[in-house]
Amino acid sequence: MPPTNQELLQRDLATLWHPCTQMKDHEWLPLIPIRRGEGVWLEDFDGNRYLDAISSWWVNLFGHANPRINQAVKEQLDRLEHVLLAGFSHQPAIELAERLVRLTPEGLDRCFYVDNGSSAVEASLKMSYHYWRNTGHPRKTKFITLSNSYHGETLGALAVGDVALYKETYRPLLMQAITAPSPDCYLREAGESWEAHSRRRFEDMERLLENHAEEVCAVIVEPLVQCAGYMRMYHPVYLSLLRKACDRHGVHLIADEIAVGFGRTGTLFACEQAAISPDFMCLSKGLTGGYLPLSAVMTRETIYQAFYDDYQNLTAFLHSHSYTGNPLACRAALASLDIFAHEPILENNRTTAAHMGQAVAHMADHPHVGEVRQTGMILAIELVQDKASKTPYPWQQRRGLRVYQYGLQNQVLLRPLGNVVYFMPPYIITPEEIELMARVACEGIEQACSTP
Ligand SMILES: *Cc1c(COP(=O)(O)O)cnc(C)c1O
Repeated sequence: MPPTNQELLQRDLATLWHPCTQMKDHEWLPLIPIRRGEGVWLEDFDGNRYLDAISSWWVNLFGHANPRINQAVKEQLDRLEHVLLAGFSHQPAIELAERLVRLTPEGLDRCFYVDNGSSAVEASLKMSYHYWRNTGHPRKTKFITLSNSYHGETLGALAVGDVALYKETYRPLLMQAITAPSPDCYLREAGESWEAHSRRRFEDMERLLENHAEEVCAVIVEPLVQCAGYMRMYHPVYLSLLRKACDRHGVHLIADEIAVGFGRTGTLFACEQAAISPDFMCLSKGLTGGYLPLSAVMTRETIYQAFYDDYQNLTAFLHSHSYTGNPLACRAALASLDIFAHEPILENNRTTAAHMGQAVAHMADHPHVGEVRQTGMILAIELVQDKASKTPYPWQQRRGLRVYQYGLQNQVLLRPLGNVVYFMPPYIITPEEIELMARVACEGIEQACSTP
């Protein structure tokens, strides 16, 4: 007899400590042990099914147990599971680096592997600082970030992020970043366009660059969508202006495409919509199609060359992680990129995204919806207490959590961020599945907002 949900969750709660969770919630909120996945569906040990509307934390692109990626990983497993990447190399790492250089914006000709998103951010911060040090600018030690940004949970990544819920507790441990106001278009004036708002917000960034360029290594941004920051979105013009200003002031631009890369925003990389090339691009999450932890920092040959010297000069980037460039993970990434190469994914996503938009368009008129916004395959519905003033529900009421519970009772895994219900499904979601996802989300919102 296979175990039941109940048996497994009891054993789990006796031993595990789960990520991003107040464990006491599980006294009343059931933990769900998953037995298998297929396509957009997850199935628990009692046979209940859940449509994975959030791609298991934004990593899955082509469904669970994707036949093509499964096959590639199985073949790699019999050849080489892992080897260190210092002094040694292997075919999947080389092929993937070549592919990423070809696919990413122009000038990103070097690939440094890491093994998760936060670590990629850490590596890019260290590389930028170290580049300036190696090239005779040791006073550059600071970073500019956007308000409401998220770059991961390790101390360096947390320091350049700005989501209070994750950061505030640890503030005494963190290096100080310089924070520019986010171009977040939810905050635009009534009647103001996304573009006008994002342009106006850039004036503050320009001023910070003018005043601090001498001590700043890099500006780090999430291009187009601040995902963990409640799926807030902005106009690409901000990125074009930022690219020019960084060049003018001699400051690097780090694009954290960990969440938005690999087609999420409509283009393969979000930076393409502003026709810019950053100095560092951090990739993870969708990189392996959601199979295995892997990340990469893509950068320029000129930056690489600033570290390339005789050993005795001690300019090398002596940074490593044990599982850096793992062959199984690289092979999964190659299989995922093969799918992009052989099928019109971005084109199909335009239809899928339009369908998602249509399915919830009517929610814009709901008295407790402040905004329905969308960038490509990311759609967000912001719940508010008062529509006219966009006054949020007090966070203590946990309205989003009610939508989560309603979703689980009705076959859909939604995991709202605070009061923001969002869809970020695998790209293979069908029209019927979109209808189900949208209907359940709308009913869940209706119910969550029906009580005062
Ligand atoms: C998820 C995320 C990270 C952190 O990646 P992990 O693999 O979870 O450490 C960093 N930046 C952005 C934009 C992310 O969404």
